[in-house]
Amino acid sequence: MDKPAILGGKPLFGYEIPTRTCIGSEEKNAVNDVLDSGELSSFLGAPGKYFNGGKYIKRFEKNFSETINAKHAISVNSWTSGLMTIMGAIGISPGDEIICSPYTMSASATCALFYGGVPIFADIERDSYCLDPISIEKLITPKTKAIIVVHLFGGVANMESIMSIADKHGLIVVEDAAQAPGVTYKEKSVGLHGHIGGFSLNYHKHIHAGEGGVIVTNNDKYALRCRMIRNHGENYVDMNPKLPIDNTIGGNYRLTEIQAAIAIEQLKKLTNILEYRNILAKCLTDGIKSIHGLEGAVVRNNSNHSWYLYPIRFNAKEVGMSRDVFVEAVNAEFKDPKYMEQVILTYGYVRPLYLSRVYQEKIAIGGKGFPFNYSGIQKVCVRWQKIVMRIA
Ligand SMILES: *Cc1c(COP(=O)(O)O)cnc(C)c1O
Repeated sequence: MDKPAILGGKPLFGYEIPTRTCIGSEEKNAVNDVLDSGELSSFLGAPGKYFNGGKYIKRFEKNFSETINAKHAISVNSWTSGLMTIMGAIGISPGDEIICSPYTMSASATCALFYGGVPIFADIERDSYCLDPISIEKLITPKTKAIIVVHLFGGVANMESIMSIADKHGLIVVEDAAQAPGVTYKEKSVGLHGHIGGFSLNYHKHIHAGEGGVIVTNNDKYALRCRMIRNHGENYVDMNPKLPIDNTIGGNYRLTEIQAAIAIEQLKKLTNILEYRNILAKCLTDGIKSIHGLEGAVVRNNSNHSWYLYPIRFNAKEVGMSRDVFVEAVNAEFKDPKYMEQVILTYGYVRPLYLSRVYQEKIAIGGKGFPFNYSGIQKVCVRWQKIVMRIA
């Protein structure tokens, strides 16, 4: 084989990667319509007509749920806040153990910490890079409450085995499908195989609204709780004593009308975006086959892949150079990327999450090891004073 240009060989391409352009006149017009209306967000943190948002929020949620055939779609201002919302909705409590993947974006595990849940990291499968069911089962204890499954890179996790383990042990399954919009397994969308799941709408994802996310579920109770947590639910439950839920505290995780208007247009483009990515992925899979030491991606039977990223397994011995040199050599064949979306090849995906200081040093919340060292009921004393209102 010829030497790569950085080691003295002849440069091959000098090719400039085209920029990703998926925002067009459709999004611009939709945003202008919202601006003309003057109503940039219609949410109100109190029960009533505006508790669940305005016109564009409702339209986006309806379109999204119809697209993937979900009973409920609940928009949020990021998928990170979506995951946190879900932890609250499924009732994660201090000391609960949540089995997570170590190989994913950090929020897929940190979301549990916000509710005092403790992420327990299982191993991943060799070919899918998603949670390994055998490894999950070994980690189940009486404290285990849920499993957060990630469909990494846009390929489907082993949902059949994971669901059968979860059912056997009475565990709740959350699907982080941030990287897998439009992906189905056995003709059912990801996000709906477990009990609740969702997608990201951040700038780097297939379709986006700058920032944003959407929770999906067929479970009415979880959906109701998510709507509460999205929008100051404490006010709602106070004024609706007949609700089937009580102990809710909410945040402000609301998407704006402008973002919803963009997301509506983006959703229409998803099929085309996936088709195009499939063409590119096929080129890579076919090309990689003839390169000794590289292994392309594997797509699970009865599923499709959204190709958020294209994972390549690298064998330094067979290729004859280190991974770092290989990545540098390939990237040197292209013009320097002007935008971050033009990155060609990177050195792996993320560092395993358990190596993060949060887990190594147990420094998630406060300075005393919470929730890692939580060991049951602690005495909590709530004090309040009579407040005398004075009219000046
Ligand atoms: C992007 C991503 C998230 C976080 O989504 P945001 O919308 O950026 O908050 C979570 N999990 C995975 C797997 C992701 O790729």
